[in-house]
Amino acid sequence: MQADVIVVGAGVAGLSCATYLAQTGLRVLVLEESAVPGGRARSWADPRMGDAVDIGPHVLLNKYANMRALLSRLGTADQVCWHTEELLTVLDKHRHIHVRLGRAPAPLHYLRNLFRILPSVPLHALLSNVPLAWRTARASWADIRALDDRTGLDYLLASGVDRRFIDWFWASASMALLNVPVEQCSAAALMRVFAHMLGHNDVAFGFPKVGLSELYAWPAIAQVERHGGQVRLGCGVRALVAEQGKVVGVRTGEGMRMLGPVVMAVPPAAASALLPAALPLAGAAARLEPSPYISCYLWFRRRLSDARFWARPWSPREFNTDFYDLANIRDGAAQGSIVATNIIWSHRAHGMADEDIVAATVREIRDFAPSASPGDLVHAAVHRIPMSVPCALPGMETARPATRQLPGLFVAGDWADTGLPFCMESASRAGALAAEASLESLGRPRRLALPVPAPGGITGMLGGRTC
Ligand SMILES: Cc1cc2nc3c(=O)[nH]c(=O)nc-3n(C[C@H](O)[C@H](O)[C@H](O)COP(=O)(O)OP(=O)(O)OC[C@H]3O[C@@H](n4cnc5c(N)ncnc54)[C@H](O)[C@@H]3O)c2cc1C
Repeated sequence: MQADVIVVGAGVAGLSCATYLAQTGLRVLVLEESAVPGGRARSWADPRMGDAVDIGPHVLLNKYANMRALLSRLGTADQVCWHTEELLTVLDKHRHIHVRLGRAPAPLHYLRNLFRILPSVPLHALLSNVPLAWRTARASWADIRALDDRTGLDYLLASGVDRRFIDWFWASASMALLNVPVEQCSAAALMRVFAHMLGHNDVAFGFPKVGLSELYAWPAIAQVERHGGQVRLGCGVRALVAEQGKVVGVRTGEGMRMLGPVVMAVPPAAASALLPAALPLAGAAARLEPSPYISCYLWFRRRLSDARFWARPWSPREFNTDFYDLANIRDGAAQGSIVATNIIWSHRAHGMADEDIVAATVREIRDFAPSASPGDLVHAAVHRIPMSVPCALPGMETARPATRQLPGLFVAGDWADTGLPFCMESASRAGALAAEASLESLGRPRRLALPVPAPGGITGMLGGRTC
């Protein structure tokens, strides 16, 4: 079979790429190993309750330009509930800290939270970040990338950041935003996130009002098919077909040869199995370590609160860090609360039985919503997920692959070199970049990928750039 472009993988990256290509009139063939699309951002109906549940709760940011463009193209942009009243509520030692971003120019927008934060961390510990913030706001991406051989913790300590502030803030930020402990994360990955935080005073989280598969995966497939493309589910690719150093197609698990330039939009381990072993990327992909998650969905008889979302600081002695009450997010939701939670980098819970994870999760929910009781629990589901994203360990930023790898082969996926942390926005931007590259190779160049938003306010004037 001959296609204009073959896209391997129907996650965010593959479907972002395929929808762009199909819209430009190309004959696209999407091959997906699993029987369902969506990859690490997919949903299904809970078998007992029938409600749509995601693999684990996902949030979007209003700064996700490429992901939001994908949803707009699919007509589902209104299916995101934007949380604009505040940035987030943090439950810190039984105290609710409402973090709000002010209108002051970045990075002064954090100042209005000073008095809310001070009971948790002393002023001099907070101020110990100022030299680091000054340096980061002025840094170029090359400066930040040069930190990739160090750990976040090592760099923070060397920059004079107080250990109490590291334990209180940076340990949680590293875990929540990069899914890896601050002791192990790449300083480059961490400081890029910090540069984004310093540069934007108008950030808001968004929560899907429908399951992720309804939000983008099935609508994207419908769009590809409407434009004459094909999506084959349950059709894994086993090998790339190459001729004279050029990738000319793929061979599927059923032994079929499909011919055309290839966009490989699969996770690192799958990519490493498909790539020629001599390609440096194959080795780099094999070294990317997964960050595992356990996500819980808990149905309560009663509504626990009117909160959509709250967070707890990371602690190795506790489990969940982020909590979402879907009853307060979705339109027409049931009377009782449906609380979805994430245990990030979940190694410490792997030996626990589901019942023990659920009991610990109810205890942690009760810290925020005291009316939560095990007796009120109607149903619970525990999702064990081998990888949310690859761990941003030292060396990984520099190992992220460029879109163009070999003639006829383009790489997409959240782990591609997109200038963003591993996330849905990175995946959708990678898909757009791969669509651009394949169109160019076919002599039809077009600009599709949207840039990473530039910093604003005072940070913008200081001239630093994060990619
Ligand atoms: C629990 C959880 C919570 C998360 N929370 C957030 C969040 O809040 N915000 C955020 O932005 N991101 C979040 N993420 C990360 C986000 O889901 C990923 O970054 C994104 O989905 C990656 O998309 P992708 O297309 O690059 O890869 P994938 O989703 O992994 O898609 C790759 C696809 O390729 C297929 N495939 C693999 N091998 C083959 C083969 N040989 N042949 C054919 N097909 C193949 C796979 O089956 C898969 O469908 C979370 C992830 C998880 C799991």
